[in-house]
Amino acid sequence: MTTFEKPPFPVDGPLSRRNLLKLGAAGAALAALPATAPEAQAQTVKSSARIVVAGAGAAGLATASRLMRQLDGAKVTIVDARKEHFYQPGFTLVAGGLKPAGYVTSTTAEYLPKGIEWIEERVAEFDPEANTVTTESGKKLPYDYLVVATGLHLDYDSIQGMDTTRIGQDGLGSIYHSPAGAAATWQAMSRFADEGGRGLFLRPNTEMKCAGAPLKYTFITDDYLRRRGNRGKAELTYAANNKVLFSVPIVAEKVRMLYRERGVKVQYEHVMTAIDLGRKVATFKTPEGEAEIPYDFINVVPPMRAPMAVRNSPLGWQEGPFAADGWMEVDKATLRHKRYANVFGVGDIAGVPKGKTAASVKWQVPVALDHLIADLGGPKATSVYDGYTSCPLITQLGRAMLVEFDYDNNLVPSFPGVIAPLEELWITWVMKTMALKPTYISMLRGRA
Ligand SMILES: Cc1cc2nc3c(=O)[nH]c(=O)nc-3n(C[C@H](O)[C@H](O)[C@H](O)COP(=O)(O)OP(=O)(O)OC[C@H]3O[C@@H](n4cnc5c(N)ncnc54)[C@H](O)[C@@H]3O)c2cc1C
Repeated sequence: MTTFEKPPFPVDGPLSRRNLLKLGAAGAALAALPATAPEAQAQTVKSSARIVVAGAGAAGLATASRLMRQLDGAKVTIVDARKEHFYQPGFTLVAGGLKPAGYVTSTTAEYLPKGIEWIEERVAEFDPEANTVTTESGKKLPYDYLVVATGLHLDYDSIQGMDTTRIGQDGLGSIYHSPAGAAATWQAMSRFADEGGRGLFLRPNTEMKCAGAPLKYTFITDDYLRRRGNRGKAELTYAANNKVLFSVPIVAEKVRMLYRERGVKVQYEHVMTAIDLGRKVATFKTPEGEAEIPYDFINVVPPMRAPMAVRNSPLGWQEGPFAADGWMEVDKATLRHKRYANVFGVGDIAGVPKGKTAASVKWQVPVALDHLIADLGGPKATSVYDGYTSCPLITQLGRAMLVEFDYDNNLVPSFPGVIAPLEELWITWVMKTMALKPTYISMLRGRA
């Protein structure tokens, strides 16, 4: 077992002339990605508005960078206690032994645009009636406009018996927890790939960020077992929360076929409720009652909800599928709050039917700001967020499928003719493992 496995390049995709040409084409296509429609029209708008951005993750930083560039004279304040910045799409790569934990960790400060005020605290209370947010130390921040970008809360506490301090020990993995958690998960998974046994994979019964990640981690584990000659000694089970493996039917079917081909057993309508870390048994709620599944390695993916400050505020949906977990009640096309017109919600916190990927953030933020800046005297806002969500789904080391879709479950390929959707391609693997991080960083700086 190693602490960090050297990426298995070239894996089924040598740097042949043909592959290099394809890579060049993908690079060109990436570079040609529209800088997003609203940005193209953006001009600096003079304004003295007070704008508060709550949260300085992917969506908060992208928002702040664009606001500072597009507005002249506005007072923009960003509120977040977190000093480290996590490139979360890389967590799967860390947990797959392909990148070190340092690959996904940087600092919030390095992406903050000049001239912004950073309050290094969390928001404790949102009061959209009074147009103020209050920080945990009691500081009141009045605003004219508020952009909420707090991401989501990983609710490990709601799994009875779960203890995140034990990730990495006794076969317990969780790729979502943190960079350190992802690295510890790699240690546990690598041991499992050496020894074989029962591998258990699952997803929660809530909205979640990057719903492809639990699926791809199952594929990655399967491939390590094969490469180490131990697949015959292992049984892999994926517990789906409902009757499908993914919310987009054509993707669900493709994954179902690949799992069947690779011998991954699927249990539908299994929602994890408890774990016994000593006995190595997970408990699931099923239509037939409680079911216990023993494991030698497990990737725990916790329920995900709006952070407490948002859940306790009037900003969440009051009814419907997004109400119980507190997701923000925003218009799905403009990301503007449905009851508080001077409030927008972007990123994972938005209560919209798709999204919850960094790729969605790239499209949501310019749309929300197009509408916000129109209110401040900018050009009339016409842009619309169509639900664009994207996930490069690794299906084995060296291959991935680019899955891109919209609110209506249409596949919306960004690179037609270069990257075919739902095909296991080396080029998509290269994109996931090498090209996406620079694009993400550009997005934080408001340039992509
Ligand atoms: C394992 C994993 C794999 C993923 N894979 C992909 C992928 O392949 N492709 C992809 O596009 N996306 C992927 N994602 C999803 C992507 O990382 C998220 O969708 C994206 O980071 C969302 O951005 P955000 O700003 O909404 O939330 P975040 O980036 O999580 O930032 C939220 C910020 O809000 C702050 N905050 C929270 N509460 C408060 C408060 N009360 N006051 C102030 N600040 C607060 C937090 O400290 C944090 O800094 C993955 C995520 C994970 C975990």
